Amino acid sequence: MQPKIDLHVHTHYSYDSLITPEELIFYAKKRGLDGVAVTDHDRIDGALKIAKETDFLIIQGMEISSLNGHIVALNVQEQIPPRLSVDETVDKIHEAGGIAVACHPVTPFKVGLGKHTSSKFDAVEVINASAFPFNYSVKHSQKIASRLGIARVAGSDAHYGPEIGYAYTLVDAELEVEEIIKALSKGLCQPFGRAIPLTTRLKRELLILKRKL
Ligand SMILES: [Zn+2]
Ligand SMILES: [Zn+2]
Repeated sequence: MQPKIDLHVHTHYSYDSLITPEELIFYAKKRGLDGVAVTDHDRIDGALKIAKETDFLIIQGMEISSLNGHIVALNVQEQIPPRLSVDETVDKIHEAGGIAVACHPVTPFKVGLGKHTSSKFDAVEVINASAFPFNYSVKHSQKIASRLGIARVAGSDAHYGPEIGYAYTLVDAELEVEEIIKALSKGLCQPFGRAIPLTTRLKRELLILKRKL
């Protein structure tokens, strides 16, 4: 089996996301995904709660704001503190039994690690469907992954239901979290995806704006 997993999704436990747990599962299934990683900004509680309440495969994770850029932690069950150095953050993720992904490392308008990526990471997110400009980000992230010789993964970075699944990773593993994480850390996976359409991004921005009014 090759589970199809969106490895980067924000739910409404992230201050900037509209996605409710119900929408998360609804759109993930609609897109033909076998699982999703819940990676809210600097909090784990939503991921833990959602995983407990559904049979759908949820990888518990976080997107951590380190001192030098965002880092996605996959398969952690405890809060990793923000504002630590990149090295400390990656160490804490590993100690917690997780893997560390250098997400959107060189994407304009996102807080990427740039030259702070290293082979200490388990994977580079080479496709981020929310990235803009998309092709530029993919090309330069691929270069980083080649230089480091680590796994390449993909995720949507969705903050709005219809954005889920525009990028996903096919993993050579059984449909089971530990197996998937092991395969990812060995690079037994392939990234796929395309940019979220502009109309969908605009709708998201309008809805977020409306919520603030
Ligand atoms: Zn980010
Ligand atoms: Zn994100």
